[in-house]
Amino acid sequence: TSRERLRNFCIIAHIDHGKSTLADRLLERTGTIDPRRMTEQVLDTMDLERERGITIKMQAVRLNYRRPDGEGYVLNLIDTPGHVDFSYEVSRSLAACEGALLVIDASQGIEAQTLANLYLALEHDLEIIPVINKIDLPNADPDKVIRELEESVGLDASGALRVSAKTGEGVDQVLEAIVERVPPPKGAPEAPLRALVFDSHFDSYRGVVAYVRVVEGALRRGDTIRLMQTGRDFEVSDLAVFRPALVAVEELAAGEVGAVMASMKDVTDCRVGDTVTLAARPAREPLPGYQPAKPMVYCGLYPVENEAFEDLRDALARLQLNDAALVYEPETSVALGFGFRCGFLGLLHMEIIQERLEREFRLDLVTTAPSVVYRVVSRKGETVEVRNPAELPDPARIEEIQEPFVHATILTPQEYIGPIMELCQERRGEFLTLEYVGPERARLEYRLPLAEILLEFFDRLKSRSRGYASLDYRFDGYRASSLVKLEVLIGGKPVDALSAIVHREKAYERGRQLTQKLREVIPRQLFEVPIQAAIGGRVIARETVRALRKDVLAKCYGGDITRKRKLLEKQKEGKRRMKHLGNVEVPQEAFMAVLRID
Ligand code: GDP
Ligand code: MG
Repeated sequence: TSRERLRNFCIIAHIDHGKSTLADRLLERTGTIDPRRMTEQVLDTMDLERERGITIKMQAVRLNYRRPDGEGYVLNLIDTPGHVDFSYEVSRSLAACEGALLVIDASQGIEAQTLANLYLALEHDLEIIPVINKIDLPNADPDKVIRELEESVGLDASGALRVSAKTGEGVDQVLEAIVERVPPPKGAPEAPLRALVFDSHFDSYRGVVAYVRVVEGALRRGDTIRLMQTGRDFEVSDLAVFRPALVAVEELAAGEVGAVMASMKDVTDCRVGDTVTLAARPAREPLPGYQPAKPMVYCGLYPVENEAFEDLRDALARLQLNDAALVYEPETSVALGFGFRCGFLGLLHMEIIQERLEREFRLDLVTTAPSVVYRVVSRKGETVEVRNPAELPDPARIEEIQEPFVHATILTPQEYIGPIMELCQERRGEFLTLEYVGPERARLEYRLPLAEILLEFFDRLKSRSRGYASLDYRFDGYRASSLVKLEVLIGGKPVDALSAIVHREKAYERGRQLTQKLREVIPRQLFEVPIQAAIGGRVIARETVRALRKDVLAKCYGGDITRKRKLLEKQKEGKRRMKHLGNVEVPQEAFMAVLRID
């Protein structure tokens, strides 16, 4: 395709505003997918993505579009994830495009991630096409959304399109707008090759499949490529474009998007963000890459059965091949035995990995409460990172403890400003600004400790705003806080996997809540089990699980056999997630109790 007939674009949106549905319609209209074989949300390939209705791993697809006048165009659509945990993947896909469809739900208006994604797209100099979606809904108010965009964001929204991705209304205009408004790629076709690796995945037959955007020059099958970061050379065995399955091609020219296969055996051979050039005629400078994703949240993953440790190791290695943001290292816990400390981009990322380990690899896991990465400055002036609360050094040797903060942006209807400010205050937030976005909605900005966001912050925000507030946040550096280690003793023995780092002023309350919660979730045993919370060896709260012989069947008074069987099965199910701490059986929920605050 000549570059004049090529367009690279992405779709950005707040979650649930209809990005995947619109992508489906574009695939359908361009005949990329046979409508009879069309399942909903074609680009969301992972089962989990479909179930949870979120896009995790971005995908690329090539659309052949014929304009009404008969002229043919190639439109490369690069899908982006819509959740705050994955904003670094959004940034990657933006670097491969010249334009973005900014999808906004006409019944909801601008949300926190609408703004976050819009600003990212503007930073990448993309042409923005506002798409007001869901105009079929009775409470849709597209004019209001357009006013919001113009008045509070300062975006020229005069060319905004009114669309229903559900009924297909307005979708043809979207295709026309992409051709007319998104500029064709610019890079010089004769220059030495420079292609940006914006994603990769591991295929057991082909090795690493690198997704590239050719910026300058051209790439042909049989070429020897060089990865500029690692300096390693590989021979290109296959090139392909996405339709959405891979279809082989002989060449990828400047401006094109496609996949490169070159017998790369290890994902580290070809890092996302690296620049591909030709060994025979290398480019002088690599393209600007991006910061590798940094895990913000860590937790311990332990197999329920100790023998499954090696299986867990293999499963993590497999998942990491397609998810460079996942990190892990072996760790041992006195209470839980051998497991791994794993790092994630955020809570959703963590849940997804846990779920995949259990579902795809059939592992039964005990997970410890997620923790942020603390920085501990010792009296001697050395700084160490602490990813596991149990590893906090002796307080006598600590000069200060620093914790990560985020800059949070919250959009809300004005009637919820009060309750939301209260919530942020309770969570040790520092107020930054309050501005109005349109007549009834406000944008609040706060600096908050990341650890407080992990404590069901999002759920609280939703419940205090009847579901109307939305949240986006970005990392905002480390600051010193007054923090202490809260230890838990069960049956008089400290349980390392239950310790937490908490703010000093909240330590007593948290200790009390935690022991109460543990008393509720630890089943009665044949003996009495004391549960204590302690700070620096001093017990601050105590509860007791009273002794009781718990015979499930005794409740059934003879009666119904199926009911008995159900109870037994339920008991067995519960057992699977039990971990023996000494002679006390502790269920999975106990390890999450520290997160359940009331
Ligand atoms: P994404 O999170 O941005 O990818 O959003 P989805 O495409 O998954 O859509 C979220 C929900 O909105 C789904 O239930 C869709 O069926 C629905 N939806 C998407 N577009 C429209 C539309 O134009 N009209 C209506 N009524 N619903 C829509
Ligand atoms: Mg989606």
